[in-house]
Amino acid sequence: MINLILFGPPGSGKGTQAEKLVEKYKLLHISTGDLFRYEMGNDTELGLKAKEYISKGELVPDSITTGMLKNKVVANPDVAGYIFDGYPRNVNQSESLDEILNEKGESVSILLSLDVDDEEIVKRILNRGKTSGRSDDNDESIIRNRIAVYKSETTPVFDFYAKSNKSKMINGIGSIEEIFDRLCAEIDGLN
Ligand code: AMP
Repeated sequence: MINLILFGPPGSGKGTQAEKLVEKYKLLHISTGDLFRYEMGNDTELGLKAKEYISKGELVPDSITTGMLKNKVVANPDVAGYIFDGYPRNVNQSESLDEILNEKGESVSILLSLDVDDEEIVKRILNRGKTSGRSDDNDESIIRNRIAVYKSETTPVFDFYAKSNKSKMINGIGSIEEIFDRLCAEIDGLN
């Protein structure tokens, strides 16, 4: 199995690249952000709770997020592997993901981090906000808070997997195809 963490700040292109990777490697794409948006769209109890945090650019509590992620993994046991997009977002979530995969006799194969600078991110997200319908993509102060949360809480996840030599930094600037090729080179190197 390939268990890939697609990592990087908001707006670094994880969703775009995940779509292409799914096609090539037939993996299941699990985006916690997408799962939350689905719940919010259906006004579920989980969605309403998550909205309190997402609207401010803060992380949804681990108890809610990890339960939702685990349900998705458990519901899809027979896949070629997973692309985790937007999870784990702190070290506690990394430990939970390792446990969830351990229970299946699996582990994280690689973490690929898309490297994009802050000003490019703000530009990309504001641009995406014109069509995404996401309120957290339209307000520059919320975007800057998401970047700050990424730096303080999420970047330690890179170091967590670097301890077992699984973390790789990928240049996230270039055309979609160029970045895709960089990611594929790392994934193909796993075998
Ligand atoms: P994303 O689509 O990955 O940018 O996620 C949008 C928002 O959903 C984030 O800004 C967080 O508020 C929330 N979110 C997504 N994934 C997580 C996670 N793993 N842990 C906590 N909050 C999350």
